[in-house]
Amino acid sequence: MTSKAASHKPGTGPIQISETQLQARIHEIAAQIRSDYEGKQPHLICVLNGAFMFHADLVRAVDMPLTVDFLQTSSYGDAKQSSGEVKLVKDLNFPLSGRHVVLVEDIVDTGITMHYLLQYLEGRGPASLKVAALLSKPSRRRVEVPVDYLGFTIPDAFVYGYGLDRSQLDRNLPFITSQE
Ligand code: IMP
Repeated sequence: MTSKAASHKPGTGPIQISETQLQARIHEIAAQIRSDYEGKQPHLICVLNGAFMFHADLVRAVDMPLTVDFLQTSSYGDAKQSSGEVKLVKDLNFPLSGRHVVLVEDIVDTGITMHYLLQYLEGRGPASLKVAALLSKPSRRRVEVPVDYLGFTIPDAFVYGYGLDRSQLDRNLPFITSQE
């Protein structure tokens, strides 16, 4: 049997965020969350699939008593542009009443997904609600949404890796990269 080692090769595009840069920024955000939620028990909700790596690294770096949950939306399919219509395809497992919620998202692009999710979560009566997003493309915004904890602001280009997919592949790259 032959086996091919995974290449983990970055693209040649303009946006490159290394594993070291990602981890350093995530630890800064985690320290901020730890200080903001001192004496409380935050509830970090991961937006599947794209945020799974960011969420996993963030909750470990936060290093305080916390709870997690997961939800999943769909609007893109395999396309690179939002259809503008968001569907909840996997709901939360736990109620939000009285919880201090941090919604953990991979990237805010047009803002449509985040806007939909914030309205949805607000309706479930959390004690507080904040947003952590690894990436933001402000030049693409169609709806203004608050981002309380932001990893990196990037220009308008399609990025992948570190949880974000390119036609469902490359989520397992440990860095963020882009095509030429
Ligand atoms: P929005 O609703 O336009 O803000 O899009 C949010 C979702 O689109 C994100 O959660 C991602 O799943 C996806 N997305 C937006 N831009 C990119 C990208 O550059 N690469 C991969 N996925 C993206």
